[in-house]
Amino acid sequence: MLRNSALDLGRREFLDLQRFPRLGELSRLPAAHQPPWADHTDLECIRAELAALPGLVGHQDIAALGAALGRVACGEAHVLHIGECAELFSMATAEHVGRRLALYRRMADHLAERTGREVVLVLRMAGQHAKPRSRPTETSPDGAEIPVYLGDAVNDLTATPQARRADPWRLLTSYDRSRDTLAHLRGSADRPVFVSHEALLKDYEEPLTRGGPRLYSAGGHLTWVGERTRNFRDWHVQWAASIVNPVGVKLGAAISRYEVIDLVHTLDPYRRPGRVSLISRLGADRTHRLGPVAQAVTASRAPVVWQCDPMHGNTRTLAGTKLRLLPDLREEITAFVRTLRAHGCHPGGLHLEVTPDPVLECHEAVATADGTACPPCDPRLNSDQALDIVDHFARLLITPSGGSI
Ligand code: PEP
Ligand code: MN
Repeated sequence: MLRNSALDLGRREFLDLQRFPRLGELSRLPAAHQPPWADHTDLECIRAELAALPGLVGHQDIAALGAALGRVACGEAHVLHIGECAELFSMATAEHVGRRLALYRRMADHLAERTGREVVLVLRMAGQHAKPRSRPTETSPDGAEIPVYLGDAVNDLTATPQARRADPWRLLTSYDRSRDTLAHLRGSADRPVFVSHEALLKDYEEPLTRGGPRLYSAGGHLTWVGERTRNFRDWHVQWAASIVNPVGVKLGAAISRYEVIDLVHTLDPYRRPGRVSLISRLGADRTHRLGPVAQAVTASRAPVVWQCDPMHGNTRTLAGTKLRLLPDLREEITAFVRTLRAHGCHPGGLHLEVTPDPVLECHEAVATADGTACPPCDPRLNSDQALDIVDHFARLLITPSGGSI
């Protein structure tokens, strides 16, 4: 729905990039994985509309998360960075938000009880609406080649060519659903909660960049750069470098010690504890790649938060259905804790895809997968599995040596 505020002001006058010359320069950098809507006639007006809307999160809460992650970086606390792979707009109800928060709290409380340490909760929520995908198209059930689902901020999950058309007006709905989600969260939270999403869509992130000389993202307390968009010269990393919010970056198995140092220098030139979270997602069979990277980061004295994402390097396909095996997840987490400890680093926390819905998308063994699970995007842990994985992490943490490698 059109809101008249920004439109009345005229399209050109309200453009965010003219208010922030630095962002204007950044905007010319290459940005991978953008939806095919650059020539859409309404795009400028949608961006102007977003730029005119109130920020979703404020300075003070961003600074509070920065301080909390600083405690994680210093080894005093842990972090659980958890939520849906792809939030659907339909999840922005009080009921669903309440159920999500209850599960995430249980996970955090369990980790805190087992370790005796503070657990910082960062929720993939209130804006986790855009997905980078490996392929641009997929085959629909009736055999047609259709555009792939790119998240509710871009197109619809329904597998028809019409529903899968990229529509930039969805960016405004993404903002609205994020605002609703935050309102529900604030209504049910008795302690601070922080929200995060992958900063993927330039046409959403730029208009929600606010502030004076020091820019910040008003779209979420933390944003992260995904594995597919982490080239440090390109828009995603350079934009993340321009904001004061804590930021994350995913590290897949192809990461080199040189790339990680470029990322850390770019994102955290002043070495602020907790400013950068390095989120490793190597795969259970590639965990040996973490050692050299951890060694390089330690030598650079960058006070990063280490997070283990055991989900994204461990996705398998069985009869056309994606699944993840819990033993793979446990193995990657075990190697994460042991490798980091061996290099004198604090295994800060976990980054997990979790849902309170009673799904069976992750399995103990291939044999129990019947190919019927149909997650909107990636396979998620259900409540019991999520608590089991957190317990596995906790058990490693309370073993003084973390075991040997
Ligand atoms: C994700 O976190 O949903 C994701 C796409 O991760 P990655 O960038 O690690 O593949
Ligand atoms: Mn995912």
